Amino acid sequence: MHCTRVRGIAVAVSMAAIALLLAPMAVAQDEKPTWSIEFVRPAIDEVVTGEITASVKVYPPSVDPTHLSIGFGDAGHVPMARVPGTHYWRATVDTTRVLNGPAALHVYGMAPGVANRRTATLVDVRVDNPLECYFGNIHSHTYYSDGCMLPSDAYAYARDVAGMDFFCLTDHLEMVSEAEWRDIRETAWRMNEDGKFAAFPGLEWTKRTGHANLLDPPGRIWPPDMESLFEALPDADVVAMFNHPGDGTGDWGWKGLPYHEGADENMHLMEVRSDQELQAYILALNNGWHIAAAGTDDTHSPDWGTRGAWTGMWLPALTSDNVISALGRRHCYSTNDRNCRVLFRVNGEMMGTVIDDPVRQVVLEIDIDDPDPGDKTSKIEIYQDGEMIDMPVFGQEKVRHTMTLRPEKGEHYFFVRVGQEDANVLTTAPVWVTVE
Ligand SMILES: [Zn+2]
Ligand SMILES: [Zn+2]
Repeated sequence: MHCTRVRGIAVAVSMAAIALLLAPMAVAQDEKPTWSIEFVRPAIDEVVTGEITASVKVYPPSVDPTHLSIGFGDAGHVPMARVPGTHYWRATVDTTRVLNGPAALHVYGMAPGVANRRTATLVDVRVDNPLECYFGNIHSHTYYSDGCMLPSDAYAYARDVAGMDFFCLTDHLEMVSEAEWRDIRETAWRMNEDGKFAAFPGLEWTKRTGHANLLDPPGRIWPPDMESLFEALPDADVVAMFNHPGDGTGDWGWKGLPYHEGADENMHLMEVRSDQELQAYILALNNGWHIAAAGTDDTHSPDWGTRGAWTGMWLPALTSDNVISALGRRHCYSTNDRNCRVLFRVNGEMMGTVIDDPVRQVVLEIDIDDPDPGDKTSKIEIYQDGEMIDMPVFGQEKVRHTMTLRPEKGEHYFFVRVGQEDANVLTTAPVWVTVE
């Protein structure tokens, strides 16, 4: 009885709603039409690679838009061109402007003489491009805090002398003035050049609790205590890093690295450059943090990017957007070797991935390629849940190693450390899985 009565009211309400909707539409048709854009290509969920020709049509065909543009979100738009004599518009879109995986292709349009001057649409696609390995440094200082020289010197040195692919300066934010912060940002964006050098600004939050790098932060003023910093990170949408954690238990080292659910959305990285920092990495991972190992030199001298520690990552193209996105997805590794490429995947997913769908088995794939003759891999340490479970030994520059595991039910994480004959070490981001 009660149900029927409720349903009756619902029907009455929706009839009223339809009547309300119909009335203004009828009026609008007499005056100006509304217009819309519809995707022709690519299709929903289509796999896209390289440069694609995207095509849309506008409705009603009589509408004459002044401008249509297309792009992947904030990765930049390109103008579309009308196919002469039709209501179809086209553009060539570079899909390497975003990382591989699901992405949304947006179209924005402007038209005169219509009820809605602006309109937009999108299509979900899956981007799948070949990847290249890039190397950079995301922690260092200038005179603006306690280092040497100026941001323009640091970015130029990192690019021209160190040959970095990407570079982010991170002066202590407590020491940086507003004018200096403006110079840091302007310098970074002026030095940034797609395909050649990905430059972006950063700051180091510097407290006794620990130091944290904030990559491309929206401002230089941040709360002074850890809890408030962690709470401020998600709104600012910043990629952040636990700096020089020691073994993760002391002052300046994040004291036990207690898990913080909100901050786990933004603390994506930790400096892992020694056996001691490996302990902090494992402590944090066991506490539940989803972080990747990064290599940096934290230099305070005029030698940016040449001090024996770097971050390596795999990208479809070298742009600062791609570098920041890849750091945010933890697709990286720490390396003491300047150019050794390490690709670690689990069940086909890139290092740094949290695999949501439960799995039956775990297939680890490790590809190592050092372009220097004689720079040989000596061993791979394979870690499951913080414990080394295997250590195969090698003696080549180029190594491919796979391993299939059937861990017990529950959540697990895996990462690898590569040892080279010259004692250089490379530590990857983990992949997290749930075994059913
Ligand atoms: Zn520091
Ligand atoms: Zn520092």
